[in-house]
Amino acid sequence: MTTQSPRASDADSSVAASNFIRNIIAEDLAAGRHTRVVTRFPPEPNGYLHIGHAKSILLNFGLAADFGGACHMRFDDTNPAAEDMEYVESILRDVRWLGGDWGDKLFFASDYFERLYAFAVELIQKGRAYVCSLSEAETRELRGTVTEPGRESPYRNRSVAESLDLFARMRAGEFPEGAHVLRAKIDMAAPNMKMRDPPIYRIKRARHYRTGDAWCVYPLYDFAHSLSDAIEGITHSICTLEFENNRELYDWIVEHLDVPSRPRQYEFARLNLSYTVMSKRKLLALVKGGLVTGWDDPRMPTIAGLRRRGVTPEAIRSFCEEIGVAKTNSMVDIAKFESCVRDDLNLRAPRVMAVLRPLRVVLENYPEGQVEEIDAPYWPEDVPREGSRKVPLSRVLYIERDDFLEDPPKKWFRLAPGQQVRLRYAGFITCREVVRNEATGEVVELRCTYDRPTKSGEAPDGRKPKGTLHWVSAAHALPAEVRLYDRLFTVERPDAVEEGKDFLENLNPGSLVVLSGCQVEPSLSTVEKGSHVQFERQGFFFVDPVDSAPGAPVFNRTVALKDSWSRLSAERPARAAEPAPAGPAAKAPPPEPRRERAPFEERLARLDPARAEKARHLIETRGIPGDDAVVLADDDGLLRLFEETVAAHDNPRGAANWVIHSLARELKDRKTGDLPVSGAQLGELLALIDDGTISGKIAKDVLAEIMQHGGSPKAIVAQRGLRQVADEGALERIVDQIIAGHPGEVSRFRAGNSKLIGFFVGQVMKASGGKANPDLVNTLLARKLA
Ligand code: ATP
Ligand code: MG
Repeated sequence: MTTQSPRASDADSSVAASNFIRNIIAEDLAAGRHTRVVTRFPPEPNGYLHIGHAKSILLNFGLAADFGGACHMRFDDTNPAAEDMEYVESILRDVRWLGGDWGDKLFFASDYFERLYAFAVELIQKGRAYVCSLSEAETRELRGTVTEPGRESPYRNRSVAESLDLFARMRAGEFPEGAHVLRAKIDMAAPNMKMRDPPIYRIKRARHYRTGDAWCVYPLYDFAHSLSDAIEGITHSICTLEFENNRELYDWIVEHLDVPSRPRQYEFARLNLSYTVMSKRKLLALVKGGLVTGWDDPRMPTIAGLRRRGVTPEAIRSFCEEIGVAKTNSMVDIAKFESCVRDDLNLRAPRVMAVLRPLRVVLENYPEGQVEEIDAPYWPEDVPREGSRKVPLSRVLYIERDDFLEDPPKKWFRLAPGQQVRLRYAGFITCREVVRNEATGEVVELRCTYDRPTKSGEAPDGRKPKGTLHWVSAAHALPAEVRLYDRLFTVERPDAVEEGKDFLENLNPGSLVVLSGCQVEPSLSTVEKGSHVQFERQGFFFVDPVDSAPGAPVFNRTVALKDSWSRLSAERPARAAEPAPAGPAAKAPPPEPRRERAPFEERLARLDPARAEKARHLIETRGIPGDDAVVLADDDGLLRLFEETVAAHDNPRGAANWVIHSLARELKDRKTGDLPVSGAQLGELLALIDDGTISGKIAKDVLAEIMQHGGSPKAIVAQRGLRQVADEGALERIVDQIIAGHPGEVSRFRAGNSKLIGFFVGQVMKASGGKANPDLVNTLLARKLA
């Protein structure tokens, strides 16, 4: 089976479909200011590209393609310190993978060093630049502030001849770093600080990865960038908003030199994603610190990491289309990205069965040695693709451990003693006996009876079990390793840390769970590296292109399946979510329509005007994220619960999040109409989280308890002793015990295996019953293990 993602077609116009930059270009062309559009993507080769860069790549290459112009690939490699050929290669690979086609327009700013030097000389000759010999501290001193003008350097009125001489000697290597800089002579009183005689060349004694030791003076960003654009005939130089203040300098430089073309700079909002860090410096720290396995670790937001995780270029493109190109910065919810990934994989990943945490099931009435080959389709009916494989059924099966409960709650549709379920593509099993390990009491096997479906696909006794389980035949299954990836950080803004804290403290210790004892269906023995599959009821997985071997695939979880909640809220009128798997079972319930996740604007537009107004109101006055606001505005029951929750505890964002997401997980098959929890209870629960009494994780347990048995959150927390352990002394004792109990891990950690920090955090959390304050655990461990 091959499911290689088709290579992305050339970046087309779609990302650029409609945005303000496109409008500017269209006007420029209409007015005859340009006859052909030339854009560029100008990364510095000092790290791997991330998803933020993807937005810029798709925009620049997309606009060029859209208007029949060109997009240049240019390395902005004017800072020798951190640049490297490895990065150049990775960047080219990633841009190409995203569909960026630069043709023969591959450039390096370092190829312009001689020309840039000549431009600098021209500026000096024109009396527009001078060599300044102040120290860095003196320069800062004279620079002024936003409210006060700067003061002129004593070297500002050096003669042209003297500056020319000094600049030549800077290049010749006569001076140490910092002895002199070349500054543009503009205006020390300019309101824009960037215009206060900015440095444009500096002495830097470092080997450059391309020009070696040929240079010891290097141009600074503003000078090199604007002139590279002018040299290449770039018409629209698109960059992110933080360069808005640089535009005046950009213009000044190209206006004061005799340049071959006159480019203009336009700024757009950079992409920021929740639960993600997006600066190369921070990503480098993760790699260097061994906190991830490399730039292509599937938890990284790098293009290489996303690719290895199983995200496709098309998914990235549809995400970038959905978020659009704006003029103000904002934070995009990572759930939006995950949703685009699901929508993309839904149509390209065939569905197969894999049991991640196997529990043995013996079908007592199924003859030993008999094997039935069942033809099972790869695609559900709503996906317009065809193909099937044979799935063997025999006497001994594995099912998911989570699909059995000995003492189930009401409305448990999966397996339990005496209960019947459907096996996906096969008949029905009824659990007759539970076999345990005598020593540990652990359930090790279920003895079941098997019933063939009738012709109409029903159970012979006429019962209609609601649950359908995935399964594999034990004798035929292929053992496999499965890696469950989760968000790399536990907080929405990992880099918004207090003074003296490090963003690394926000790492999610559970971001990777490796399951080595999984059992997957035999058809996967020939699955190729780089294939996408959906494990029914589990999520989308990608055959790891690096660690898989023939017959021994390793599966990376790209993204989990959407929980039943989002379907529930999308499929109004309120209808119970399917308790069991998505997709059609042998006959009974018709295939579930897979929800096309429309962009937020579109869903907003689909609401009736009063509800749309309500949604806007929630966004604007209550700060509710757009996606959540649409869901609330469209469901009176939820909206009422949300308002009651906020009345009990004033945290609208938190309330929306809990009402929509956390509650959903517990709601499972209940209708929104008869919510088993009140706003007062939810508000009380939120208050307990917000004041640090309990963690979000414990709060979910409390909520589950309330949904089952009712009660007040405070009382449940008190009765069950769930209060977060934030007492340093108590935690310290646990930390000490864990450290003492794992001498091997401690010495490996101290020898440099810093990844083990996750192990220690996990152990401490476990020992505290999940109640330890994670921040405190991190701090204590860092101190004790140092
Ligand atoms: P970082 O700040 O993450 O280290 P950078 O801006 O230093 O990235 P460059 O190599 O200079 O990285 O970036 C190349 C191009 O990508 C620039 O035009 C930059 O504006 C754009 N870019 C970088 N980050 C983002 C982002 N988060 N969203 C959109 N565009 C981005
Ligand atoms: Mg930057």
